[in-house]
Amino acid sequence: MYIDGKWVKAVSNESFPVINPANGQQIGSVPKGGAEDAKLAVDAAEKAFQTWSKMTADQRGHLLRRWYETILDNKQEIAETLVLEQGKPMKEALGEITYAASFVYWYAEEGKRVYGETIPASHPDKRILVLKQPVGVVAAITPWNFPAAMITRKVAPALAAGCTVVIKPAEQTPLTALKLAEAAELAGIPKGVVNVVTGEPAEIGDQLLKDSRVRKVTFTGSTEVGKHLMRKAADTVKKISLELGGHAPFIIFADANLDLAVQGVLQSKFRNSGQTCICTNRVYVEKSIASQFIEKLRDASEKLTVGYGLEPETEIGPLIDEDAYKKVESHIQDAVQKGGKIESGGKRLTEFEGGYFVKPTIISGATEDMKIMQEETFGPVAPVMEFEELEEVVKRANNTPYGLAAYAYTENLKTAVSIAEQLEYGIVGINDALPSVVQAPFGGFKESGIGREGGHFGIDEFLEIKYVSLKI
Ligand code: NAD
Repeated sequence: MYIDGKWVKAVSNESFPVINPANGQQIGSVPKGGAEDAKLAVDAAEKAFQTWSKMTADQRGHLLRRWYETILDNKQEIAETLVLEQGKPMKEALGEITYAASFVYWYAEEGKRVYGETIPASHPDKRILVLKQPVGVVAAITPWNFPAAMITRKVAPALAAGCTVVIKPAEQTPLTALKLAEAAELAGIPKGVVNVVTGEPAEIGDQLLKDSRVRKVTFTGSTEVGKHLMRKAADTVKKISLELGGHAPFIIFADANLDLAVQGVLQSKFRNSGQTCICTNRVYVEKSIASQFIEKLRDASEKLTVGYGLEPETEIGPLIDEDAYKKVESHIQDAVQKGGKIESGGKRLTEFEGGYFVKPTIISGATEDMKIMQEETFGPVAPVMEFEELEEVVKRANNTPYGLAAYAYTENLKTAVSIAEQLEYGIVGINDALPSVVQAPFGGFKESGIGREGGHFGIDEFLEIKYVSLKI
C-alpha cells in the first residue's frame, strides 16, 4: 500500500490475492489493510494537508501536469495491469488510461480558476467577500469497472482544490490504483497527499467514515453501498458525492438513423461487457421499425469477438466474477420464463476455463415485469421492447428509482428537445451513446447519486464556501 510516501505492508502483515477474471488465476497479492492502516493514511493526509492546501494553484497544477505526463509515459504498462485484473479488452484499457489522464490534465488547469466573489453590501462601511477553500482530507472509495478513471475523476479535482486523499480501491482491482500512486510518486507529488489503502472494505470504510478529520467522502459504486456510506457520513456530517448504479433506457424513434442507433446500442450496451454504470439496460424501439431494428442489432452483435483482453481482436472480455455471472444468468432465465425470446447469445462460453464470458445477448419481446427491466444487469444483455407514443415511452423510461444516463435516437429536432427535457436522468445522450467527457458534469438523479464529477462542477465538490464580512 502507499501511505505517507512509503510502500508498506498492512499492520496485520496479511495480504489477499488479486485474480485474473479471464481465467481465475492469481496474478499477485496486495496488503489486507484494515482500520489501523486507514487511520495511518488519514494521519498522513491530515499532515500533508497543512502544506499542500497552502501551495499556490499554479504549484499544484504543475505537479498535476507531471502526474498526467507520468501516467501517459507508463500507459501501456498500466493498461496491461488493468486488463489482467479487470478483464476488459486492451483497446478499452488504453482508452480508459487516456480518459483517466485527461482528468489530471484538465484539473491541473481548472485549479487556477477557483474564483471567489465580492458581493455589494448594504452598508457603506462593509465589504462582503466569498472565498473558496479546500474542504480537507478526502476519502475516495472506488469500483472495479473503471479502476483508473474512477480514481482520477475524484483525485485530480480534489488535489487541484488543495485537498489530500485516502483512496480505497475495489478489492478486485487494487493493482491499477497502486500503479497510479506510483506515477504520482514519480511525478513528485509530496508524501501524504495521495495515499492508497487496500484491504477490507467495510473495516477501512467504517474507519474513514467515523474519523472526523475526513471532511469529504466521494464514492462510486453500487446504490446499496452508497446508501450505507451516506448513513455513516451523517455522524460527522461529511460532505458527500455519490456516483451510484443506473438503469439506462435507450429509445429509438422510427425517424432515427437505424445504423447509427444499432452502433449506439453496441457501444453503450456491450462496452466493458455491459459493466458500466451508464450502460444501456433496456431498449425501447418504436413499433413500426422494431423487427427491422432487432434483425440489424442481432447481426451486428453476432460479429463481436469475445476473448481474452490482451488478444488484439478482442471486443468483449469476461465478467468480473462468479456473482456477476449469476446475476446475468438469472436475468436471462427470468426473461425467458416470462416470454422473452433470445435472438442471439444467451449463454456462457464454456471454452474459456476459469473465466465467466457471456456472448452478447439480445432478447426480444421483453416486458416491464422482468427482473432485467428493474435491476441493474451489469452484463452484455439487451432486452428490447416496443413503444408507440413519445409520452408513453417517457413514462416507461422514467419509471425507475435510478436516474443516471438515458439515450434517445431521432432525426427530429422537436422530438429530441422534448425527450431530453422530459427524461429524469443526469445524463442524456441524443444520437450519442458515449457521453462521458472530462468537461461535462457526470452524475445521477434520484437513487443514482448526489453531486457531479467532471468539468468545473467537479472541483466544487471539494471546496467549502467561506463568507467574510469585512467592516472597515
Ligand atoms: P460496490 O458498491 O460493491 O463497491 C464499490 C466500492 O465500495 C469498492 O471499493 C468496495 O470495496 C467498496 N465497499 C463495499 N462495501 C463497503 C463498505 N461497507 N464500506 C466501504 N466501502 C465498501 O460496487 P462495484 O460492484 O465495485 O461497482 C459496480 C457498481 O458501481 C454498479 O452499481 C455501477 O453502476 C456503479 N458505478 C457507478 C458509476 C457512476 O459514476 N455513477 C461509475 C461506475 C460504477
